[in-house]
Amino acid sequence: MHYDVIVIGMGAMGAATLYQLARRGVRVAGLDRFAPPHDQGSSHGDTRITRQAAGEGAAYVPLALNSQRIWRELEALSGEALFEACGMLMLSDSRMPSRAPGTADYAGDTAALARAFGIEHSLLNAARIRERFPQFAGFGEQAVGYYEPGAGYVRPERAIDVQLRLARQLGADLYPDTAVTAIESRGQGVRVHTRNGSLTADRAIVSAGMWAGDLLGEPFDRLLRVCRQQLFWFALDEPERFAPGSPVYILLHGVADTESCYGFPPLPGENAIKIATEQYADAGDPDAIDRTISQAEIDAMYETHVAGRLLGVSRRAVKTRVCTYTVTPDFGFIIDAHPRLAGVTVVSACSGHGFKHSAGIGEALAMQQCGETGAADVSAFSLARLAGGGH
Ligand SMILES: Cc1cc2nc3c(=O)[nH]c(=O)nc-3n(C[C@H](O)[C@H](O)[C@H](O)COP(=O)(O)OP(=O)(O)OC[C@H]3O[C@@H](n4cnc5c(N)ncnc54)[C@H](O)[C@@H]3O)c2cc1C
Repeated sequence: MHYDVIVIGMGAMGAATLYQLARRGVRVAGLDRFAPPHDQGSSHGDTRITRQAAGEGAAYVPLALNSQRIWRELEALSGEALFEACGMLMLSDSRMPSRAPGTADYAGDTAALARAFGIEHSLLNAARIRERFPQFAGFGEQAVGYYEPGAGYVRPERAIDVQLRLARQLGADLYPDTAVTAIESRGQGVRVHTRNGSLTADRAIVSAGMWAGDLLGEPFDRLLRVCRQQLFWFALDEPERFAPGSPVYILLHGVADTESCYGFPPLPGENAIKIATEQYADAGDPDAIDRTISQAEIDAMYETHVAGRLLGVSRRAVKTRVCTYTVTPDFGFIIDAHPRLAGVTVVSACSGHGFKHSAGIGEALAMQQCGETGAADVSAFSLARLAGGGH
């Protein structure tokens, strides 16, 4: 079969790109080593935070806004609930800078971007935080808050599933359980080799997540690090503290990468909250990730991040999961042409903050491929900025 475009990897980025290409009438095929949505990559665990004023930088804001618009369109088309705009509270400590990877003042940058883009938000002092959000009263007198009502959470597995289903209805050929083993540029096109044979296309888009480095070789294998992350669902002792309308939250309680966490309100019908940390010290082989979480890790999570900060939450973990961030040296995205494979565009695994931008990235790539004007500008995510870099 010969296609206009082959998309390799049907996770967050790939599903969005397939849907957007298919709805533009492009002859497109999607390939994945598993059957997405699955729990082997970077897009599982029930929920992902979406924020409009993405403190990682101005280039991300249009992608976040476009994604929220697209999820609403997808909800109307599919009848599935994908995006819950429950608001987001970012809490930091007024006595110290609110660091996050790749930024020097995360809360300050977030508020500045909200002002620059006219995004609705409010800044809260400790008294106001206690009054509006009693579950965070333990944060203390030094707490300062940034609240964004248009933020919330997305359902990653559902969003992937809906976009793949719609893509198939629109004529895309999907090949789950088909691992790509090599990509070759030939003359005017590309040949994609799998364990079951090969396919050709005019162009290919590689959104292979944590396995992108292995598949794409230099410089991606040098630039991308795969970091194990842990997710915990703790049962609530006082569910009334997390009343309907409770926001997603980011708690920045120290300056080290390990001194922050983020989480979600209980999902409808559940009596537990999901909470997670980020770590960048421990990176490894994507095929050798330890996918179990020990009782010691559960206890450490509770003591370090929950106890005394989040009120009404028990130390009883009802569920745990391991997921992976695939990070670049500056924690930004790579969305660019492959330097040696003509006709191949790479969308990196997006460094732990990609889901909120995925629908917008799929749209921008499809518009680019179709030569449409007005696509979101992704030039900030060039490979050249990382030239010669490594971890
Ligand atoms: C714990 C955790 C929490 C996160 N929280 C947030 C959040 O709150 N907000 C946010 O915006 N982002 C968040 N992120 C980041 C976001 O989820 C990721 O950036 C995004 O899901 C990555 O999407 P992807 O398409 O790059 O990778 P994936 O969704 O993993 O997709 C890659 C796909 O490629 C396939 N593949 C790989 N190799 C091959 C091959 N050789 N042949 C065929 N197929 C292949 C894989 O099977 C997989 O399906 C979080 C990530 C994690 C891990």
